[in-house]
Amino acid sequence: MADPKFESLIVAVDQGTSSTRVLIFSSKTAELITYHQTEISQKFPKEGWCEEDPKEILSSVYVCIDKAVQNLKALGIASSNIKAIGITNQRETTIVWDKITGEPLYNAIVWLDGRTATTVDSLVSKTPKQTKEHLQPKCGLPISTYFSAVKLRWLLDNETAVQTALQDGRLMFGTVDTWLLWNMTGGLNGGVYITDVTNASRTMLMNVHSLKWDSDLCKFFDVPMSILPEIRSSSEIYGCLSEGPLKGLPISGILGDQQAALVGQACFKRGQVKNTYGTGCFMLYNTGSEAVMSEHGLLTTVAYKLGKDAPVCYALEGSVAIAGAAVRWLRDNLGIIEKSSDIEKLASTVESPHGCYFVPAFSGLFCPYWQPDARGTICGLTQFTNKAHIARACLEAVCFQSRELLDAMNQDSGIPISSIQVDGGMTENTLLMQLQADLAGIPVVRPSMPETTALGAAMAAGNAEVRHSMPETTAIGAAMAAGTAEVRPSMPETTALGAAMAAGNAEGVAVWSLK
Ligand code: ADP
Repeated sequence: MADPKFESLIVAVDQGTSSTRVLIFSSKTAELITYHQTEISQKFPKEGWCEEDPKEILSSVYVCIDKAVQNLKALGIASSNIKAIGITNQRETTIVWDKITGEPLYNAIVWLDGRTATTVDSLVSKTPKQTKEHLQPKCGLPISTYFSAVKLRWLLDNETAVQTALQDGRLMFGTVDTWLLWNMTGGLNGGVYITDVTNASRTMLMNVHSLKWDSDLCKFFDVPMSILPEIRSSSEIYGCLSEGPLKGLPISGILGDQQAALVGQACFKRGQVKNTYGTGCFMLYNTGSEAVMSEHGLLTTVAYKLGKDAPVCYALEGSVAIAGAAVRWLRDNLGIIEKSSDIEKLASTVESPHGCYFVPAFSGLFCPYWQPDARGTICGLTQFTNKAHIARACLEAVCFQSRELLDAMNQDSGIPISSIQVDGGMTENTLLMQLQADLAGIPVVRPSMPETTALGAAMAAGNAEVRHSMPETTAIGAAMAAGTAEVRPSMPETTALGAAMAAGNAEGVAVWSLK
């Protein structure tokens, strides 16, 4: 095909919590050319536990690459036009495997898994003042079930196979990026064992200032540095794909999914904010070259470092564990909807939740509470309440949680955020977006191309491979602006604030009464 926009293409592998997607972008126009997606199965073996199969994660990537390349061929575009591959992934999810056999030693422990609540207690009790914030000055994070080092500690304490592998010098540990890259670059036959700064910044083992594994942090978790992958920038050639239709192509970008969305939304300036609505909700605020420590329960994280010698950029992050996962729960556990997208129609049949509030704290609460033992509740029920009210309360819960992140960010920065750029699977729900604008009291801006996470990974990959192949910021701007929808608050701001505060209060009561 002669169209120049097809001459230079970049593949993004987006390995998310609920699904894996492989997307092919034009590096000239940042346009999405084609993609393939498969859902990932999740196991909930015990209350609060959440696991995925590392081999299924890997094979889903290969299947999606095959299918996306087939789609490309069906469009009459040669796969030889593809120049590079970028990876973006669910973060913190922890995988351990055997250096000799390449086999996983346990299922992947997913980021929202809450099994480590007692590990957190014992770690906190080791700190001089028994505070979960003790390590925050070094790694930017509170001690929580959320982060990889805590999950790794649990594996080392509880799983004989992991203990034995450690003793025998056969233990490999990685977040999903490391597992994928090691396998995709050859595995046992010379696989590259690395992670990028954004993923490393979610382990609690990396010093957020030096961008290196930190001996004090490793000592605190009793994790030997010898089992850790090498930390690299988010944009450089790490190795080449060792099999499949794209064999030999360089893999040249890695970004944790939320950082990738920040890049894909072109939030390169200090003060720019995006909120992603997927399994959970993640609001990132670009703080530029400064690693700002939050006083209001937010995380300090590496946003990106787009090249070996490029400057590092930091973000403040607000993370909510359960957003779209609550919709999935209404679908799978209560069966009140058939597909996730059905919630919009159902919730639209009522004008309000009629006093019903849903706190989906299934595996504790993350920002700004960091309370691992909180549990979910639906309150304010009357004889009048029906499934539509519960569906609407579920959507409102997502918005209230995001509103709390916004408040924490406004308090930390001192400058009120004037609009939110959004993305993620849930943002196709227009009612949700309207509720968010109402409950935040500021406009919500949704790009026409919702795959910003994948676009961010493609940008990181293109940047490293052949510099001119990185989608130009202007191209991205144009691609995003085409059809960008702005959802404005539909009620006077003060009313919205009042409603949010009243509901936030109700949420607080429900949560805190569980203590
Ligand atoms: P992730 O990147 O975490 O895998 P996605 O961005 O793919 O997540 O979004 C999927 C999540 O969004 C699922 O939890 C699903 O229940 C929810 N979801 C998808 N479509 C809708 C919709 N139209 N309304 C509400 N929730 C939705």
